Parts: sequence; structure tokens; C-alpha cells
Amino acid sequence: MKKKIFLITCALSMITVASASASSINLEQKPTEASKNVVPMDVPTGYGAMGWQWPTTVTTLSDPFGWTGRRFHKGIDVLVYKQDVYATADGEVIGVGKYGNGTEYVTIKHDDKAIEPGKTNNNLISRYLHLTKDSQKVSTYQRVSKGQNIAVSGNTGAATGGKDNNYHLHLDINNVAKDLPADNETIDPMLFYPNQLSSFKMDGNASNDKELHLYEDEEHSFDVSMMNHVGKEKFDAWFDNLQPHERTRTAFKQHFNISDQLLNEILKKNDIRKR
Ligand SMILES: [Zn+2]
Repeated sequence: MKKKIFLITCALSMITVASASASSINLEQKPTEASKNVVPMDVPTGYGAMGWQWPTTVTTLSDPFGWTGRRFHKGIDVLVYKQDVYATADGEVIGVGKYGNGTEYVTIKHDDKAIEPGKTNNNLISRYLHLTKDSQKVSTYQRVSKGQNIAVSGNTGAATGGKDNNYHLHLDINNVAKDLPADNETIDPMLFYPNQLSSFKMDGNASNDKELHLYEDEEHSFDVSMMNHVGKEKFDAWFDNLQPHERTRTAFKQHFNISDQLLNEILKKNDIRKR
């Protein structure tokens, strides 16, 4: 009993000391321009301050967010086989189902809003793609909580769904409250996880020469442009013959004898950036 009282007294006096010194600092020191911009390393700001949850227990990425050559990857790919997928934050399910190419998905409209100027009225949207067929545990308009199990990851929408390859979870987040965001409307999901960055690693195979992720997304991508050029049958034959990490742009160009110049012409013709 005595010990407890002593501890409480200690704690109280520490708080008193802390608040006293804090207020005296405020009174005596006017912040300079430089000190105003100093942000402590362990205090997340912006999207990092929202406390979003990572969507799986795996932290290996096979493909980061952003440009690779002419292909813009709208989200991140987490190298995960079949595992529970968790809602990254509280919100409402606005989409559950299958895109035309077979990609099974869940889309959540979050309570958290975008922070970019002019977009602060927009709810943030997260999408989870390539889920195992019919594994979704939520339905449209349902409220979900951060960390709630919403589905199982998988490889749906890949060239030949059902094969034991191409398993990954694609997560993308946008700031325009859209189910199918344009390239420039997505946000790097890693901005939401600043305190966990040290635990993430990239898979070596995917780090320099990108894998072709056929039907990664609903809209036409680099991969679809190439398929249009060589024909679906030939493309599939090449694709199915290789392990995921072997399906690189370099390998594709060599196999079909496509020069950089021709590659650019194909992309121009298919105009992958037009929406
Ligand atoms: Zn992806």
C-alpha cells in the first residue's frame, strides 16, 4: 500500500514538473522559422498520423507504387499467398465483387478524408485486388472497422487464374473518392505506414526488371497493350510457360523481338494513359 501511494506521488510530481517546464519554454522561447519546421522522427504527420492498419501480416512487397517505365502502378503489391486481408481503417464498404477481367475486389470508403488542398472534402478510398474468389466477408454498404477481416488474398484476375502463381495483394488508396481512380489520383500507400517502414522489404526478383502483371487493374496497362500487339494466344503461351519472376519486360522484348522503338509505338497506339 505504501509503495503504491509513493508511486502515485512520484507520478504526480513528474507531471507537475513536466507541465511547468513545458509552459516556461513556451513563455521564454519564441520559435524560430527553423525550429517550427522540425518534426520529431517518431511523430507521424499527414496520412501517417491517421494510424491505418497494414492489410496483411506479410510485409514483403513485390512491386512498389509509382512509375516503372511507361507503366504506372497505382498501389503496392504485397507478396502474400492466401491470407486474411484486413480493412486498413474504419469506413463503409462501397464495392464487393469481380471486375470484368476476373479480379475479385473489395472497395472501402473511409471516414478519414484526403489532406491535399482542394480535396479535403473527399473521403479516402482503399481497394484490395486479386482476392480469392468468393472469399469476401463483407457486403456493400456495410460498416467495417479498422482491422476487420474482409476477405482472403489470392491471385484472381491474373492471366490464368487458378494456377499456383502470381499470388499477391494489391492495395491502392485514392484521394478522390473513386472506385477506379486515375493514375494521378492515387496516393502512395506507404505514406500511411511511416512507423513500420523498417520492417518492409522488397522481393529481389521484382526490384529491377518489373514482372508483367497481366490484368493488374481494370484499365488497360502496359501488359494489355503488349498482349494486343502479339495476340492473346501467343501472349498467354509465353506467360504460362514462365515463373512469375521470369515474366519481365526484358524477357518479353527478347522473346517477341521487340525493340525499344517498337515498344514505344505500341504503347503510343494503345495510349495507356488515356482514360
Ligand atoms: Zn498491384
